[in-house]
Amino acid sequence: MSSLGPLKASSLYFTPLPPSHVVQPGKETHGRYMLTIPWNRVSGWGQPKIAARQDLTFDPLAGVLQYAVTCFEGMKCYKTDKGDLRLFRPNKNFDRLKRSAARLGLPHDWDNDELLELFAKLVALEAPIVPDTDGSSLYLRPTLLETSEGFGIKEDAYAAEALLYVATTLNLGQGLYPSSDGEGKGIKLDACKEYIRAWPGGTGSYKLGANYGTVNIAKKPGYAMSLWLHGQEDFISEAGGMNVWIIKQAADGFLEFVTMGLENGIVLPGVTRESIIELITDHGEGKKDFPLDGMPKKVRVVQRDIPMSEIIESLADGTMKGMFGCGTGVVVVTVGGIQYQGKQHTIPSNPLIKLLRDTVTGIQRGKVDEGRGWSFKVPE
Ligand code: PMP
Repeated sequence: MSSLGPLKASSLYFTPLPPSHVVQPGKETHGRYMLTIPWNRVSGWGQPKIAARQDLTFDPLAGVLQYAVTCFEGMKCYKTDKGDLRLFRPNKNFDRLKRSAARLGLPHDWDNDELLELFAKLVALEAPIVPDTDGSSLYLRPTLLETSEGFGIKEDAYAAEALLYVATTLNLGQGLYPSSDGEGKGIKLDACKEYIRAWPGGTGSYKLGANYGTVNIAKKPGYAMSLWLHGQEDFISEAGGMNVWIIKQAADGFLEFVTMGLENGIVLPGVTRESIIELITDHGEGKKDFPLDGMPKKVRVVQRDIPMSEIIESLADGTMKGMFGCGTGVVVVTVGGIQYQGKQHTIPSNPLIKLLRDTVTGIQRGKVDEGRGWSFKVPE
C-alpha cells in the first residue's frame, strides 16, 4: 500500500463540548470525547478530529459489518499522585495495531509520533475525569476498521476506506481482578475443550475483533475466563484477555517463569508479557536488583509450549510454584484454579506474583522509574 497523505497531528480539528456540558468527576462512565481519523486509498489520511463521543454510521455493506474487518488495541491512561497523566509503552500498542491492520488489508503506514501527539491531546482533555486511585484508569480503545464496501470480488485485498478512532471508558478498579491479586486465592479458569481460539497459521497473534467475537460464548459462569488450549496435547495458550505464565522449580535450582512462545503465531504478543520478560531477564545473577528487589537471583524466563499434562504432573510432584495471567486489563493476576476435563485443579499462590504486579503497576503509575522510559508522561 503506498503512503499517500500522511497522518498529521498538526491538522487536528477540535470541537469543544457545548458549554452546557457539566463535568461530573466520579460520575462519568465514558470519556466525553473521541478522536476520529478517516482514511481512503485516493488521498490517504484525512483530517483528525476530536469532538464529543458519538455514534458512527456505515454503509450496510461496509467491510467491518460484513466480514469483521476490524482490529483494535487496549491501553490505559493512569493519573499519578502528582496529577500527571501517563501512558504505558504506547508505541508497542501502535506497532501491534499496525501489524493487525496489515493482516486485514487496512492502512498501517502512520508515524507513531503523530498518533501519540493526538492520543496525548485526547487524554489531556479527559484529565478532569481520569481517576487517580490504585487500580483505576481511563481505558483507551483505539479501533481501525473498513468503512467501505467489503463485499463481492475486489480488485485486490485492500480496503478502499477506513476509519481509525479512539473511544475511552472509565475503569474505576472495581472489577473482579484487583481483589484477587497475589495474596488472595486467585481467579479460576475454565480450560476450554469445546472451542479453539487459535491455531498455527491463523490470526491468534493479531488483535482482531473476530478473534474475540467467535469465542465469547465459551465463557462459563463461575470462571473468570476461558483458558485456551490447542493441539492434540492440549497446550495452554492464553486466557481471555491475558497471557498466561506458570512458575516452576527447575532441577538445577532455578525458578523458571514459563510462558508460551510467539513463534507459532497462536498467542497475542502482549505488552505486559514483553515487559515482564524484560524485567525478569534483566534481574538474573550478576545483574541489578532494582526494580525486582525480593525476586530470587536464580531465575529465568522460558518461552515454550506447556501441555495441560505438565500442569497436572507438576502440581502432583510439587514443582509447580504458581500461575498467573498478565495483560493491560488485569496487569498481573494470580490464577488459583483450573477446571479441566471435569476436574478442579488448585494452583498454589506465590508472593512473587504480587511483587511483579506491584512493580508493573508502580511503573505504570509513575511511582517506579525503571530507567527505560516505559511510562510516557502526557504533556499538559
Ligand atoms: N492475550 C489476549 C488475547 C489479549 O486480548 C490481551 C489484551 N490485549 C493480552 C493477551 C495481553 O496483552 P497486553 O499485555 O498487551 O494487554
